[in-house]
Amino acid sequence: MTKAKTSSALSHPDLRESCANVLSMFSWLASTGITAMPAAGPSGNPFRNRRMCDAAHDGMLITLRCNGCRRTLHFWAADLVKVVGEHHQVHLAPWPCSRCQTADFIDVSWTVPGAAMLTGLTVRRPVRKIERWLWRNEKA
Ligand SMILES: [Zn+2]
Repeated sequence: MTKAKTSSALSHPDLRESCANVLSMFSWLASTGITAMPAAGPSGNPFRNRRMCDAAHDGMLITLRCNGCRRTLHFWAADLVKVVGEHHQVHLAPWPCSRCQTADFIDVSWTVPGAAMLTGLTVRRPVRKIERWLWRNEKA
């Protein structure tokens, strides 16, 4: 993909439509039997990987499992879009583990959850964004 293609995707006024275009391209490729799409694993080419806006559009639940502290958290892709942006690749951890201070141990998985999965499931939802000042001591 060219740089020009990147900027046209970014500046697209209707993100939902651009996602739909990408999805229809994927299903066209699948119907040709040319290649397996993102389920086959992340590609080196970011344009071939599922983006957060695709996952949000599909109503996906993103599960982050940190194998360092063995903690598992569930998020709605539609919530993560607001935090990491629509072009964030879903397979990349959105942030480091808050306990381990690293993303190295985080496994990301995603699924369209069925009713059975959602029963009794706890999902992390954004409440509000907090902005705060950082202070430091300096020589007068
Ligand atoms: Zn951890």
